[in-house]
Amino acid sequence: MPTYKCFECEKKITTKKLDKRFVCPQCGGKIFYKPRTKLKKIKTD
Ligand SMILES: [Zn+2]
Repeated sequence: MPTYKCFECEKKITTKKLDKRFVCPQCGGKIFYKPRTKLKKIKTD
């Protein structure tokens, strides 16, 4: 399952928890990022 990290408090949040509201349950932050994974590199351009 994909996991995001809150930009504010760095709490790990699964996409399932973000399904209804894209808000951090811990600090209420609304900015998230995907932590680096070792899956594969994706070209962004
Ligand atoms: Zn947070």
